[in-house]
Amino acid sequence: MNLFTDLDHSVRTDEPLARHTWFRIGGAAQYFVEPTSQVELEEVVRRCRENDLPIHVLGDGANLLVADNGVAGAVIHLTADHFGEVTFSPESVKVSAGVLMSQVVLRCVREGRSGLEALTGIPGTVGGCVRMNAGGAFGDCGSAVQRVTVMDEECNIFERFRDDLAFAYRSTNITSRFVLAVEFAVTEDDPQRILKQVKQIWMHKKNSQPLGQANAGCIFKNPRGISAGALIDKAGLKGKRVGGAMISDKHANFIVTSRDATAFDVLKLIDQIRDRVAQEFGVNLEKEVEVW
Ligand SMILES: Cc1cc2nc3c(=O)[nH]c(=O)nc-3n(C[C@H](O)[C@H](O)[C@H](O)COP(=O)(O)OP(=O)(O)OC[C@H]3O[C@@H](n4cnc5c(N)ncnc54)[C@H](O)[C@@H]3O)c2cc1C
Repeated sequence: MNLFTDLDHSVRTDEPLARHTWFRIGGAAQYFVEPTSQVELEEVVRRCRENDLPIHVLGDGANLLVADNGVAGAVIHLTADHFGEVTFSPESVKVSAGVLMSQVVLRCVREGRSGLEALTGIPGTVGGCVRMNAGGAFGDCGSAVQRVTVMDEECNIFERFRDDLAFAYRSTNITSRFVLAVEFAVTEDDPQRILKQVKQIWMHKKNSQPLGQANAGCIFKNPRGISAGALIDKAGLKGKRVGGAMISDKHANFIVTSRDATAFDVLKLIDQIRDRVAQEFGVNLEKEVEVW
């Protein structure tokens, strides 16, 4: 029996997750849920809990590799259609979790608000961005976070404030299952200056990343003080292929996939990179991309 029968408008079964990830590969979700309201989200979470159904929270799928045999349980996708509020106040902007970070950056440019330029060119939702503490050479998401609204699997909703939040390289101390909304510090500034910086960062990304091909950003975290991409490049691995997965010629820490690629191809290539880098440099690379 489908435990979401009366929620047909929001729940699909066996939904191919390739449609919802930047890698465009991988199997299906047993249940794929796009709640249309906070109340409905809570109802879905309650039913998952009562039925011991594992919950996975999906943002824009920009940091995910979904296994070929798919995902058991419920994949809950918070979309901007229903979790899409953006509210400016004098010193900050409060954004719901489903909004794309790129849209927030653009809104800030238009409103003449500075604080989020460093996140230019990073795909994903606000929820995913905070969960991953996304960022890079120009700064990270956590530096601008003032407050986060979260919900746990018991549907308790609470606020976490800057003083009690910790952000480190691609990680946070937020353990609650759902990020629902985030308040970022953004101060008034000259829109032309902000736009100039956003354009510079965007050009840098465009020139250094394989943006025309399916990928999920950096596969590995940078080991302390070392670039994972530089190690992979030095090991002579650029262009190496397994099936439809290939190490990008443009950025050695990116794996790009063709239409016929499988998640298995990507996982096999990841193992080969790890082994080779460990052999050549004695460094153990840790995955940044999340595997479901
Ligand atoms: C071309 C490209 C370039 C990239 N460049 C960068 C970069 O420069 N820097 C960088 O850090 N990353 C980069 N990435 C990776 C990716 O953009 C970030 O990790 C991004 O924050 C993922 O957001 P998402 O919404 O797609 O999350 P998803 O990939 O959907 O999920 C990632 C994790 O976040 C969790 N999550 C998502 N939404 C929520 C929520 N509402 N509540 C709780 N948990 C949630 C998921 O459960 C999962 O654990 C890049 C990816 C691509 C494809």
